[in-house]
Amino acid sequence: MARLGVNKEYLKKRNRGLVLQLIATGKCSSRIELAKELHLTKTAISAIVNELIDQQYLKETAVTTKAKLGRTPIKLEVSPKAPKYLGILFGRGCLEAAICSLDLKIVAYERVERDWENGAEMMNVAFCLIDRLLEREEKIIAIGVATPGPVDVKKGRIINPGHFHEIRNLDVTEPIEKRYGIPVFLDHDIQSAALVEQLYGNGRDYQEVLVLGIEEGVGSGIMVGGHRYQSNSGYPPEMGHVSINHHGRKCVCGNIGCLEAYIGSGAVEEKIEAAFGRHIDYREFCQMEDPEADRIMQEVINDLSCAIISMQNIMNFEIILLGMDSIYWKEKYLKRLEDIINERKFANKKVRTLVKKVKFMEKMPVLGAVCNAVSKTFEGEMLE
Ligand SMILES: [Zn+2]
Repeated sequence: MARLGVNKEYLKKRNRGLVLQLIATGKCSSRIELAKELHLTKTAISAIVNELIDQQYLKETAVTTKAKLGRTPIKLEVSPKAPKYLGILFGRGCLEAAICSLDLKIVAYERVERDWENGAEMMNVAFCLIDRLLEREEKIIAIGVATPGPVDVKKGRIINPGHFHEIRNLDVTEPIEKRYGIPVFLDHDIQSAALVEQLYGNGRDYQEVLVLGIEEGVGSGIMVGGHRYQSNSGYPPEMGHVSINHHGRKCVCGNIGCLEAYIGSGAVEEKIEAAFGRHIDYREFCQMEDPEADRIMQEVINDLSCAIISMQNIMNFEIILLGMDSIYWKEKYLKRLEDIINERKFANKKVRTLVKKVKFMEKMPVLGAVCNAVSKTFEGEMLE
């Protein structure tokens, strides 16, 4: 019987979290919609909603309509008094932090740019940044962290990311938790991005989502069945190290012909410099109308499609979202990539696999960090 009690308590928390998620992400805005979506009775939904209103997570607003007959519709929204969440992104040469509400409205935001000397310096600047943001909003119940991989999610530790100021084996979660006394949740930056895009962004209507972050390295985030793919080891998926040429270049990871050695921003900038005889940065290159630039982009698309199709044949993604430096790609290149994937993928040819840009563009990684914390509330944790 004790076991049953535990399960009941768990289910109650889980349903409360789900109700909050559906309202905060804009999928439902009334009790009727919630009952339908969660397959619960209206009475059960009302009990949960009333409790969440009493605890100031949600509020009700009467919707003004022109119709005079019938009941006035009531819209459910996140209460402005609901707890807030802080997210911090450890980036290459930068730190970004944001405070958001449950419906991902940014309450405060700040960015610091610096080349980190070492991990201790980066942590100190992170503390200063968090301190400053906390002065602007007190009701923070959790902190989410996103960092380049590989990371150990379970231990909250940065392992040994490439091109990351030689920072290695840095404990992040524990010192932040110690200083602020609230829960801290860390994940890989693009895995965090996949979460925010699936909850609030362009992956919202899909269960199987691949997010690619193309910059110096190529990061990947995977959502399966609406949940973030998480290996038991705590290590995230690293699509940048999928080989596209076993006769190719040796990669820092030990593998041969890794994708990021061909399509990472740095590798592409080298090709641009060889072709044009001068340095042109990735963003500027993406805007160029030039046959040589088009040739380089086609090469990037061919290389990238090779890795994506291999992944697609295993995972059957519904949508692939490009982020980081690839937010500057012209739409025609996304279309070309989408066409190649759909021509060459093995299964489910009748349903088109989509390729789009991420919704949150430059803010995606820091909002991903916020979501590492927000998603815990949606899982029913940290609810009073
Ligand atoms: Zn590699």
